Parts: sequence; C-alpha cells; structure tokens
Amino acid sequence: MTSPDTIATNLLGLPRPGLEAFVAELGGKPFRARQLMNWVYKRGESSFERMTDLAKDFRAQLAERACIVTPQIVTARQSADGTRKWLLRADATQAFEMVFIPEPDRGTLCISSQVGCALDCAFCSTAQQGFNRNLTTAEIVGQVWLANRELSGSFAHDSGRERIVTNVVLMGMGEPLANFRNVVPALDIFLDDFGFDLSRRRVTLSTSGLVPQIYKLAEHSNVALAVSLHAPDDDLRNELVPINRKHPIAEMLEACWHYIDSRCGRSVTFEYVLLEGVNDSPAQARALAKLLAGHPAKVNLIPFNPFPGTRYRRSAPEAAQRFRDELIRRGVLVTVRRTRGDDIDAACGQLAGRVIDRTTARLGTRVFAVAVQA
Ligand code: SAH
Repeated sequence: MTSPDTIATNLLGLPRPGLEAFVAELGGKPFRARQLMNWVYKRGESSFERMTDLAKDFRAQLAERACIVTPQIVTARQSADGTRKWLLRADATQAFEMVFIPEPDRGTLCISSQVGCALDCAFCSTAQQGFNRNLTTAEIVGQVWLANRELSGSFAHDSGRERIVTNVVLMGMGEPLANFRNVVPALDIFLDDFGFDLSRRRVTLSTSGLVPQIYKLAEHSNVALAVSLHAPDDDLRNELVPINRKHPIAEMLEACWHYIDSRCGRSVTFEYVLLEGVNDSPAQARALAKLLAGHPAKVNLIPFNPFPGTRYRRSAPEAAQRFRDELIRRGVLVTVRRTRGDDIDAACGQLAGRVIDRTTARLGTRVFAVAVQA
C-alpha cells in the first residue's frame, strides 16, 4: 500500500465519474475505470502491480499517481458474540471507530462520518468530545474496504454468500448530513454496481434531522434514511436533540415524508432511545403514534447505553415493553434494537471518554449505534 503522505490520488475517494476523469487524465479509456473499480472493490486489491489485466505502462502510471489508502487501525477487538470493533486513526491525537455485527443472514458495518460531532445531543457520548473534523470520502469508503479485508478469512461465510459486509449503516461517530459533500460520493461508491454494489435498502444513513440536507439528499441518493427522533414533542426534543430548536419536529417530519414520496421504495425509520422517566411513558408512546399516523414509518426502539457522567438511565424492560405495545396497538411498525458487543464496549454509547493508553490518551472513543433489529 502506498504511504498516505504521498501526493498520489487516493482512489477510494473517487466515485465512478471522478475515477473516469482521473483515468482520462492518465490517457486511459472510461472502461479502464470500471476495470479498476472491479479490482479495488470486488477483489479488494490494493496493489496496482497485481491488476494483471491492465496494461503494464498504465499500471506503472497508477503506481506513481494513485494509491489505495485506508485509515490505519489503532486497535481491533472482538466480542464473545462475534461483534468486531476497530479504532481507526484520524491523526496523531484523534481516532474514530467502526463496528461489524455478524448475523446469520447479514453482516452489518456501522461506520463513522466525522471525528466527533457538533450537534450536542444530550444522551450521546460523542457530544462530550465536541467536533474535530469531517472524514474524507476516502476515509468513509476506506472503512468498508478495510472491514472487508480484515474480515475475509476470519468471517464464516454462509454457503453461497459472497459478500462479507452486506449492510452499511452511517450510525457511528458524527452527523453524516453535516458532512454532505464527502458522504454522498461515498454512498455512490457503496451503491455502484462496480463499487460495493450494495442495494439501497442495505445502506442506511442516520441523521439527527438536518432538514435542508434531507431535501438535498432526496435529490442525490435514495438510501434508507433513519432519523433520530427520541421525543414526541418539541419541548423534550429541544432538550435531547438541540438541532430541534432550529428544525422543529413538524418541519423535520415534512422533510421525511418528502424523502419517502420523492422516489418510490424509499423508507424512513425513526430511532427512539428509551430513557427512563424521560421519554418512555405510555402517554408519550401515544403522542409518538399520533405524529406518525397515516405515514409508512417505522420506529426503532433503542435501549440506552449509559456512559460515564450521563444523567440518563436505560428504561426498565417492562416500560420498554409497554411503550412498544402502545405503538403496536396504534398500528405503528416497531422494531427493538438488540445491544451487541457490550463486552468490548462496542454497543451504543459505551465508550465515551475511555482512554486507550498513555500514548493515545486523546484518542477519544465513542458511541455505536449497532443496527441490529430483533
Ligand atoms: N448523528 C446521527 C448518527 C449518529 S448517532 C444521528 O443522530 O442519527 C446514531 C444513533 O446512535 C442515534 O439515533 C441513537 O440511536 C444512537 N445513540 C447515540 N447515543 C446513544 C446511547 N448512549 N445509547 C444508545 N443509543 C445511542
């Protein structure tokens, strides 16, 4: 792999049109770009030398002008339940994480879009870390490329299953729609037939509700959308998800219905972290059902994962059950997220402020929204 400090172009940052332009600059025909993508994304190849169906001089040019560089792994851990977590280096002092959740019928990779986050949601440990920087397209795509490489050989394939990472969720660190410019090209690579070739239903972008960017996303992509709702009224949501003060619930829901409408087959899921005595009463469940009535929306109930210094607690199982039943009774489709990987701190919200060791003392770690649905 080429060293990241060369001025070479990292191909993981280029969706197909950009790669075609780059290949044209080198004097290559557009189909060379597709050939290259095939090597990079289907075969996981990072050495141009080994891309044997490319002309020798073209390979030499690529070796000089291009590279395939992923974020570096700082630490890797594996849970008893098979969940894997990697801490990845953003720079000398900062890091971000990705988590892989294997299930019999799929393998979900939860990736980050920013180092830290600026949105300051009350129940989320990334907020405590503040915002550091946006990840580049290559760093976002690089997470999926790297996970596929790390897992090949160690992941038990089901018979006939080719892919290792079958689902990607942008539910790690950061607000993906606040990094629209770098996230959308990454989505294009995830979905491209010559890229990771994932179905749009298997790529989920989770947002706290950046309304203008939801409309913009509707024009650029048709991945599954997940929205962090967490409260049925503006007073409470202002407190839990402060972006609500700028884009209140009604405005945000309009954007969601537009997203569903503007191309058929798109879906929206509302994420709702159950916080004891805060948002988990039957009356709040009824208010939530009322908000969503008449729309093809799903609610994903999430057990809260406490982190040091938080004032919130996970709802008791009976309260969660009651909340779920109230929704179901009113015709709302409900899934309940299972927590995975707790023993390696890979579950949502378990990692805030953990110090890795003295040399990486500021490598803040965080929250993982493990998108496993029971
Ligand atoms: N910024 C985006 C994506 C990252 S957070 C967003 O807000 O959607 C994605 C999800 O992480 C949130 O919806 C929430 O479901 C989950 N989450 C954050 N902190 C959590 C915690 N402490 N416990 C459980 N889930 C948490």
